[in-house]
Amino acid sequence: ESLVRAGADDLERAAEAALRPRRLEEFVGQAVVREQLSLVLQAAMARGRAPDHVLLSGPPGLGKTTLAMIIAGELGASLRITSGPAIQHAGDLAAVLSSLEEGEVLFIDEIHRLARPAEELLYVAMEDFRVDVVVGKGAGASAIPLTLPPFTVVGATTRAGLLPAPLRDRFGFTGHLDFYATEELERVLVRSAGLLGVPLAGEAAAEIASRSRGTPRIANRLLRRVRDWAEVRGDGTLGLAAARSALQVYEVDERGLDRLDRAVLSALCTRFGGGPVGLTTLAVAVGEEPETVETVAEPFLVREGLVGRTQRGRVALPAAWEHLGLDVPKTVDT
Ligand code: ATP
Repeated sequence: ESLVRAGADDLERAAEAALRPRRLEEFVGQAVVREQLSLVLQAAMARGRAPDHVLLSGPPGLGKTTLAMIIAGELGASLRITSGPAIQHAGDLAAVLSSLEEGEVLFIDEIHRLARPAEELLYVAMEDFRVDVVVGKGAGASAIPLTLPPFTVVGATTRAGLLPAPLRDRFGFTGHLDFYATEELERVLVRSAGLLGVPLAGEAAAEIASRSRGTPRIANRLLRRVRDWAEVRGDGTLGLAAARSALQVYEVDERGLDRLDRAVLSALCTRFGGGPVGLTTLAVAVGEEPETVETVAEPFLVREGLVGRTQRGRVALPAAWEHLGLDVPKTVDT
């Protein structure tokens, strides 16, 4: 089963890669980050120097990987990609760092998941462009300092607050990506439909955009599912009716909530009487990892005013019951 899943993931990833904007000006929305980043890059290029390290934070699917690729592209530099969980030992990171060439961009996805020793090695490398290579073992081991050429780290994290301060301080610029407005997602969809060569009606773009949870990755994925529906059950054109029918099949509701979002809401409202309930308990109830609930479902539910976070745990807000078609309990403040 895992083989089949890996295959499907690869296909999805390839489909996503084909839709990635390559230049900053093609990147839709996020006007603030775009302007900030463009200044950082232009200034560095004018000085002929590698730009400061860049940290990108925000929920999954908002374009952190895309921006890292754009940064390298705009600088005319090559990009190396790794991630916190992929680096098991400090030595793995030392190997990557010591093979960097001048001006290269090193993208570290999920940088908040780096192990402690790797993290310490990284901030020395980021600050002093040096890595201590340990040779030998035990009492005879010694560290040989190796000077690195100037390079730029682009780190991505779902929450900047997850990074320890010493590491966070090594980044000269932090860009916060926020959920996209529906109108911005419409532009993402129109662009993607053009690249895929599918006929997407304006009304359908608006419908898909409004159900994409403010997230371009979801918008592009739903577009592909609507295309499937239109080609198999419809006449191949992506109109409003096709969009609605397809989204119904895939259990994406009018507000864009998917199965996991609704599972979280319904556990909160019915099983835990509206909370407060701890993240771990809630995650167990919906059969997911706490990190998935916290980074994938929760930011959107909080933004939509469906879920609140309190010191004692997660609580359902009145809109949560309403969205599930349930009566709001009298004990809940409205
Ligand atoms: P993760 O945190 O999971 O790595 P991410 O934030 O890095 O996610 P990306 O992989 O960069 O997200 O983007 C997901 C998809 O959304 C890509 O296919 C990309 O084409 C599209 N996309 C993201 N942002 C934009 C944008 N601003 N304009 C157009 N397309 C975008």
